[in-house]
Amino acid sequence: MSKISRVLIQGAGIGGLVAATALARRGVHVDVVEHRPPGAVLGVGLNQPGNALAVMREIGVLDDCLRRGYQYSDLRVITADGATVDIPPPPFPGVPPNNAIQRRELCQVLLDAARNAGARLYHGTTLSEIREEADGVHAAFAAKADGATVPEAARYDLLAGFDGIRSQVRKHVFGDRYDAEYTGFTCWRISLPRPAELDRIVYSLSGDVKATLIPLGATDSYVALVAPQEQIGVRPTASQIADTIKTLLGRFPGWIGELAAVVSADSASAAFSPIEQVTLREPWYRGRVVVAGDAAHASTPHMAQGAAMAAEDAVVLAQCLDAEHDVEKALRTWWERRMPRAGFVQDYSAALLRSESGVPTSLDEELLRTPMPAAQARLAEPY
Ligand SMILES: Cc1cc2nc3c(=O)[nH]c(=O)nc-3n(C[C@H](O)[C@H](O)[C@H](O)COP(=O)(O)OP(=O)(O)OC[C@H]3O[C@@H](n4cnc5c(N)ncnc54)[C@H](O)[C@@H]3O)c2cc1C
Repeated sequence: MSKISRVLIQGAGIGGLVAATALARRGVHVDVVEHRPPGAVLGVGLNQPGNALAVMREIGVLDDCLRRGYQYSDLRVITADGATVDIPPPPFPGVPPNNAIQRRELCQVLLDAARNAGARLYHGTTLSEIREEADGVHAAFAAKADGATVPEAARYDLLAGFDGIRSQVRKHVFGDRYDAEYTGFTCWRISLPRPAELDRIVYSLSGDVKATLIPLGATDSYVALVAPQEQIGVRPTASQIADTIKTLLGRFPGWIGELAAVVSADSASAAFSPIEQVTLREPWYRGRVVVAGDAAHASTPHMAQGAAMAAEDAVVLAQCLDAEHDVEKALRTWWERRMPRAGFVQDYSAALLRSESGVPTSLDEELLRTPMPAAQARLAEPY
């Protein structure tokens, strides 16, 4: 391990918790601050492709994820004219190709893993001061939720910002240069009873609306609908979100359209979010401050790889700090390993978004000459 013995991670999402586990297992003192209260998990479900499962194996939680999730092999595309195309996954050595899981289940597995590895987690608090020093960072904290336990102000060898799309740590290092950019599309999500036809991830297009349906177990499923929207105005209310989901689902033929009938106006799981991208066009670190996961490269959800990329960032960061004594060199190696892979996911996902909505650029068309199976095969290569 390099000279890093104390690390502060901001953000107890997927990337932050994987980083906490990977570093604490190597004997590093890790503190994690998360501004949400414990148990507040955003989103419904998630697909873990084989590369994400390889990370779960590396940090020792693969069996837990598989026990709580739903494994399947091919992904299915239902075209606008109703044709069904099944795309087999590339081989991922030693792990299943796909595991669909409830976000709250995955979060619990990762929280337990981080704690068991020795990381200290503080919910309901956030950084109130970041002072960079030659070989470390001085940090102070503020409570964001009632009753939160706030860590003492302290010095760390490294600060890692896994704090998502509106990252405060990214803002600290880069100002507003890399603020999230709205793509012109929104995502409407809901948890529904699992229809019998849904035994693998299904993608379907109806006009300019894309549906992604994920089985989450014997009885549950998760539906995400991506639709164009020029501007984001006032945030919709819960019943408006449910109404929109009903309308969008109703545009699909067959069993997907029939799901509109089971969407109820008071569904607690119905959620809306603008689809935004972050593209950090320079090294994802400065001195002893690192920015990773969605904070560095949030992408459109079209490859279901964002959380996988955050998890890969996290374990590769720990590997690089482990292998190289010189911290600057370790961080450079980390970024050089991560940037092409996360950039590929981001570019390919955005190209899919634009091409499916009928407005691909010539660069998108060039990129999409690599068909989906070959794109996935690239991600089956070691991270
Ligand atoms: C509709 C949709 C579907 C998706 N489906 C998939 C999928 O199937 N598979 C997949 O791999 N990816 C998927 N993704 C992407 C995935 O959700 C993200 O890429 C992933 O969650 C990023 O992880 P992260 O740890 O970088 O950030 P996040 O998960 O956003 O975690 C950031 C954490 O930081 C905390 N935080 C933020 N600011 C502060 C602050 N100031 N102080 C303290 N804490 C803070 C947040 O509360 C949060 O807990 C999807 C995304 C969308 C929008």
